[in-house]
Amino acid sequence: MPHIVIIEDEPNLAMGLRDNLEFEKHTVTHAADGAAGLAAVAAQPTDLVLLDIMLPDMEGFEVCRRLRDSGATMPIIILSARSQEIDKVRGLELGADDYVTKPFSLRELLARINAALRRSDRAAPAGGKSVFTIGKRKVDLIRQKVTADDGGEQPLGYYESEILRLLVERAGEAVPRTELLERIWGAGISPADRTVDNHIVSLRRKLEPDPRNPRHILTAHAVGYKLVL
Ligand code: CA
Repeated sequence: MPHIVIIEDEPNLAMGLRDNLEFEKHTVTHAADGAAGLAAVAAQPTDLVLLDIMLPDMEGFEVCRRLRDSGATMPIIILSARSQEIDKVRGLELGADDYVTKPFSLRELLARINAALRRSDRAAPAGGKSVFTIGKRKVDLIRQKVTADDGGEQPLGYYESEILRLLVERAGEAVPRTELLERIWGAGISPADRTVDNHIVSLRRKLEPDPRNPRHILTAHAVGYKLVL
């Protein structure tokens, strides 16, 4: 039974999520602030974290950063009441995998949780390269890290790793964003969703020397994205 840690200070929301996840046969631990959440993840193997941003003791972004710094690679889904794109990208930059904006549909959240758990189940690459170089930066999809030439490391979220995996398989070719959505998130996610685009913005910040003028992760106009190594 997958173990999910919910880090959320709104008791009603946390209780509702807990009931629904337990109904889906997950084991759930609820933590009402960031410190308790970090302790809960450290205390037992955790398969997924649901993380609120506005917490009483620290921002969810900080929780995310500390989890990734400690080497945790489980999927982290941010529950954010803020809808600004910049916050979403900030979460992804810190190593979160996905986010849903409150108020969210429970069905959509459960679909994203189940997709994330299925993906991390088969964390070993299904073939293809897991370590490669983009420009001067080394990408390691198993450790989910990008290493710059000065040795600085940045975490990759699970979905960022999956996007890179698909793009590198077909380096030099435009991969449609609808295909990225379908292959990575599966059915149930609307193609109008900005999810892929936000992950691309975050990936460019990690991989491009000048993220505003990308040379490696290119936009294929009206189609999708193309990776140039
Ligand atoms: Ca909150």
